Amino acid sequence: MSTRSDALVIFGVTGDLVSKKLFPALYQLARRGRLGVPVVGVARSAWDDEQLETAARKAIVEATGGDVDEDAWREVAGALSMVTGDYTDPVTYQQIAQRLETAERPLFYLAIPPTVFGDAIAGLGAAGLAARGRVVVEKPFGRDPQSSRELDAVLRSTFDPERIFRMDHYLGKEAVENLLVLRFANALFEPLWNRDHIASVQITLAEEFGTQGRAGFYDQAGAIRDVVQNHALQIAALLAMEPPVADGNDAFRQAQVAVLHQMRAMTTDSTVRGQYAGYLDEQGVAPDSTTETFVSTRLTIDSPRWEGVPFYLRAGKSLPGTATEVVVELKQPPRGLIPSHLEVPDANLLRFRLGHDSGVAIAVQAKTPGPRTESQPIDLLVDFATALGPQQEAYERLLDDAMDGRPERFVHEALIEEQWRIVEPVLDLPDQPTSYERGTWGPSVDDTDWHSVHLQNKRR
Ligand code: NAP
Repeated sequence: MSTRSDALVIFGVTGDLVSKKLFPALYQLARRGRLGVPVVGVARSAWDDEQLETAARKAIVEATGGDVDEDAWREVAGALSMVTGDYTDPVTYQQIAQRLETAERPLFYLAIPPTVFGDAIAGLGAAGLAARGRVVVEKPFGRDPQSSRELDAVLRSTFDPERIFRMDHYLGKEAVENLLVLRFANALFEPLWNRDHIASVQITLAEEFGTQGRAGFYDQAGAIRDVVQNHALQIAALLAMEPPVADGNDAFRQAQVAVLHQMRAMTTDSTVRGQYAGYLDEQGVAPDSTTETFVSTRLTIDSPRWEGVPFYLRAGKSLPGTATEVVVELKQPPRGLIPSHLEVPDANLLRFRLGHDSGVAIAVQAKTPGPRTESQPIDLLVDFATALGPQQEAYERLLDDAMDGRPERFVHEALIEEQWRIVEPVLDLPDQPTSYERGTWGPSVDDTDWHSVHLQNKRR
């Protein structure tokens, strides 16, 4: 018997996430014949069904550049209906229950601010809707270890653990999953993946843009909460984990949790926080805000595989480019053929691009044309879209997974606990972050060699 969800309820349907990600995901699911369920939108705004349809159409037109498959759109439009109400009002849930009368396994997607998760979950529980449903919550999972545990307690008081889906959309990215396949399925990489051959691992989540009109929201979070606690550490776990000891999701999760457990917590000594010039003047930002818009840190993993190998994380806004990438720097090669009066060749770099331009670049040494035996780095480049064909969007894959009740690409609470432990010492520091000019790679801090090395290793 299928256990696929037979209805979808989206709380916060008027919001940013729904228009940017969830409406397009619904449309893509419809295109692939994977929707097929009623979709109930819930919000406090007094939208009717027509307004909901208009918002969905607009979002889908934007996402597709206007190239809309009208059959798929008709399915989405026909599936949508609206419930308006307050999350503390039992009537809201009675209305939802009426829409779900025939649904046996509804999926509740909480695209609302975390401050109202508790009300929505309690309301679903009181209306008797939780027992047969699944729930998706988005990061951030709390603001610190304590509030994260409180959120868990609220979720678990109402939903069985296997019905809770904690979403970090990076886990739905094909290119992020590909890190595991490239690592473990290639004799070219797998034997090198340790302290004997790797000099450093560098993870960059760079955004060219600033707070994009959401400075008030961002000021409550900052770079560490926004992307380091979740996406960056998630990537680090996939890069550094040991091979799972068995098939299946439990062993996979245990391997991820184990490696983060071996990672030391961040320290102020090995972390640089920055704030771009002009941030304090933005609307919604506290005039004396110490929120960081940039962070660069050096992480240590106490394991036989990684002893002595720094993992650098860098994330920030208003940087020179938008890129999500991992650079694995191998150790310096021996001089070999190169005459001793010339410099030692550059180290090989494995560059994994995880953003929209996903792919791999491997910097190797090649002979410089000419009479002398000299080498220079060249890139062996593969663009995934060209080599592998179109990839599905993360939200489409994750929504599909949650509807099927498949937990593999969702985050386990034990991993979230480790992530908070690692970032906790550098949360809410009272001192002002170092200022940096927009369009630069963060603050110049000359006395931390690792930070400046990191800054030099810019995207080619
Ligand atoms: P949002 O636009 O700020 O809010 C979503 C909707 O929630 C709003 O349209 C609003 O609808 C309702 N809402 C706002 N404040 C509320 C309150 N105090 N009480 C009850 N309802 C309230 O949020 P979002 O950016 O879509 O994000 C939704 C969730 O996804 C959040 O948990 C966020 O942290 C997470 N997330 C977002 C993104 C993103 O790219 N936006 C990325 C990752 C994770 P009504 O006023 O009409 O009810």
